[in-house]
Amino acid sequence: MSTLNLVAPLAGWATRLEEVPDPAFAQKMVGDGIAVDPTSSELRAPCDGVVVSVHASRHACTLRARTGAEILLHIGIDTVNLRGEGFTVRVSEGQQVKAGEPLISFDMDLLARRARSLLTAMVVVNAEGYTVTGRHQDRPVSVGDALLVVEGGAASAEESSEGDTAERAVRLLIPNGLHARPAAVFSRHARMHPGAVRVANGARIANGKSVVALMGLGAQHGDTLTISVQGTEAGQRLQALVDLVASGLGDPIRPIAETPAPAPQKGPAPVSLTPFAAGTPALFKGTPAAPGIAVGNAVRVVETQVELSQRGQGLAEEQRRLAEALTGVRQDIEVMIEREGTAGSARTEIFRAHLVLLDDPDLNEAAGESLSAGHSAEWAWRSAIETHVGMLERLENTLLAERGGDLRDIGRRVIALLTGQGASRVPTDLPPNAILVADELLPSDLAAVPAGRLAALCTAHGGPTSHVAILAAGLGIPAVVAAGDGALRVPHGAPLIVDGERGEVHVHPSAALQEATLRSLAERAARREAHLAKAHEGCHTVDGTRIEVFANLGRPGDAAAAAAQGAEGCGLLRSEFLFLERATEPSEAEQADQYQRIAEGLKGRPLVIRTLDVGGDKPLAYMPLPREENPVLGLRGVRVSLRHPDMLRTQLRAILRVKPEGVCRVLVPMVTSAHELRAVRVMLEEERRAMGVSTPVALGAMIEVPVAAMLSDRLAEEADFLSIGTNDLTQYGLAMDRGNPHVAAQLDGLHPGLLRLVARTVEGARKHERPVAVCGGIASDSRAAPLLIGLGVNELSVSPAVIPGLKAFIRTLSMSQCAEVARKALELESGDEVRALVTSTWPGL
Ligand code: PEP
Ligand code: MG
Repeated sequence: MSTLNLVAPLAGWATRLEEVPDPAFAQKMVGDGIAVDPTSSELRAPCDGVVVSVHASRHACTLRARTGAEILLHIGIDTVNLRGEGFTVRVSEGQQVKAGEPLISFDMDLLARRARSLLTAMVVVNAEGYTVTGRHQDRPVSVGDALLVVEGGAASAEESSEGDTAERAVRLLIPNGLHARPAAVFSRHARMHPGAVRVANGARIANGKSVVALMGLGAQHGDTLTISVQGTEAGQRLQALVDLVASGLGDPIRPIAETPAPAPQKGPAPVSLTPFAAGTPALFKGTPAAPGIAVGNAVRVVETQVELSQRGQGLAEEQRRLAEALTGVRQDIEVMIEREGTAGSARTEIFRAHLVLLDDPDLNEAAGESLSAGHSAEWAWRSAIETHVGMLERLENTLLAERGGDLRDIGRRVIALLTGQGASRVPTDLPPNAILVADELLPSDLAAVPAGRLAALCTAHGGPTSHVAILAAGLGIPAVVAAGDGALRVPHGAPLIVDGERGEVHVHPSAALQEATLRSLAERAARREAHLAKAHEGCHTVDGTRIEVFANLGRPGDAAAAAAQGAEGCGLLRSEFLFLERATEPSEAEQADQYQRIAEGLKGRPLVIRTLDVGGDKPLAYMPLPREENPVLGLRGVRVSLRHPDMLRTQLRAILRVKPEGVCRVLVPMVTSAHELRAVRVMLEEERRAMGVSTPVALGAMIEVPVAAMLSDRLAEEADFLSIGTNDLTQYGLAMDRGNPHVAAQLDGLHPGLLRLVARTVEGARKHERPVAVCGGIASDSRAAPLLIGLGVNELSVSPAVIPGLKAFIRTLSMSQCAEVARKALELESGDEVRALVTSTWPGL
């Protein structure tokens, strides 16, 4: 075995690789090694060797040492984005170099301004046969100082050449080409396959398990890579690798400029659909998207087809027109946000997101490419929008697909400014009790509606998590979405009843039904007012058991509103809102700021912040996770956090920064055993001590998987409180995917088996006198509340809107009766039987 001594290629501070703010390096996906925070601006050879490759963007190169070890030197982080600006290469591929000879010089000022970090990684990329045995880190170094010792030179593991060979071509859609990070992701997946993996780009062929070889392919955005896999299950492995490349290997993807012409815009209802006949009552169903019931008249919103000319008036002119229109729309949105006033409300946040979309570099680049091809500004903008909408829809991720509405919205606004047509689809002179009925509604359709005019909305398309659904809930109007042809058959002006709770729409309802609905709405309103008047008082059962009612929150703007509804705190802050749908990780300061705003909205009430709960089903662009066959059973919740401890520590520090000390509690999702909780506790305590925070922070475990319920006594030993996430507990308890429509009807949180898991959780918690909350969906269901209370749950964390009514109901309950009914429920066979028992005991439900 031979030893290779690598010397510092730069002067600066030698630091551990884990400190590099890029998971591909920090998690050693690219290879093992060290990093230098440079104070000199010339990268020099760390050993004698041959230059194997220099990256096209001039920010990285690889040397092969005499021992065969391949050393990647990568200057800064995300410097590939500079596309060579600021770098001067001093060597050429194939050149022999001596230790200390210059390789690449760089403009330190430019990098300091434009790159995410200057940390320069030096890693051994052909890791199989080599081990890093000595590191001189956490200290200043000068060029030429000893830095790393690499042992080895053994041949890499034999690749199996048995079995099938499978081959497929795939386009590379990463704007920056196959640079170090995506190459590392590919090679890591390729290495899981025992057989050979080759990647070809034109005439160049690379070993798919070698980061250097992959980078050496020089593959650029739009290149077609041919991947071939040899060995057992070659077809399956190939498919996974092709999918990985198609999904961008952890980088954002941008479609190819010559993508097909934009899809035709969605138009009005096809003429073949017969409108519902006047005078004949009819009923159709959709998906409930915002609660409430409304009686009113249909106002049809029809998409106006705008003819766009394809040819532009010259590149400069079209660039100017597009820039002007983008500025115009940006200003309109800013005025709207300004008018809105309430910082952080769901409404302003949505329009802030539109501002970000307007500046999206990929979108603008795609439009720019279309302009360069001679197209008009409106044509270029529409093709860029439609291509991106298509991409989101193809991701088969409902949440992202529903964001397509936002893209279409900014698309329409910009085109309206450019063409002077199609600006406002919703008439400004809406009659009172108007119910908007449309193929699809977009956020800006609702922005222009005068307050108090809108009674409800109903759409043929769209989803319950689309921004328009969130806006409707914020306006307090019921909404039914995804109603299909039913919505398209509603004639303009037809009387309607929209039931946003059942997802039903009555067309031409009888006078008797209209009157009865209006009467019950008036009674509801009076009841609600009475409940609201007492919502701020504490909540006890008639026999004096204190039940706390908290709110579930998922956005900063909702905290104050929840407190106004009588929330005694936030029992579950789903912190994912800070992490999803963005290209970079939120910083500690940004997180702390958002948590602080929420704490302030709650005015001193406790705030339970759940640590990040993401997984393979909700990937983050900046945290590559392996592609999993079944992500719901894979890396999720705390499992991800423990694999990314730096991210977890950042979140914990942000929580610890919130004032006043002790107002926040930390809740850990998807716990399956006590050691996970212990690991989080150690980090929390270390960070607390380091920050000098004297008040201890309560740490809770979510009970979301059956084994956690069974082991609740063990978890309660470690935790300060338990909180049952019945949404996941139902999914894992019944073995039914919570997103699968085929089993949606049986996915019943009141199943007696699940109630037994709740009972077991309380039993375990009581052994250590720990409180138990329920923060899953059934806590908001008044048919479940008496059972949960009867089983000994101390806190319900619910949707803010149900708090006043739920508190009023709890005040009518007797603990002894709840316990009696809960005992009986545990002996039943099905959720339906449980519901029947509850409604026969409390007939008003
Ligand atoms: C739950 O699983 O019940 C829960 C509250 O978490 P989420 O719905 O965010 O998965
Ligand atoms: Mg959950």
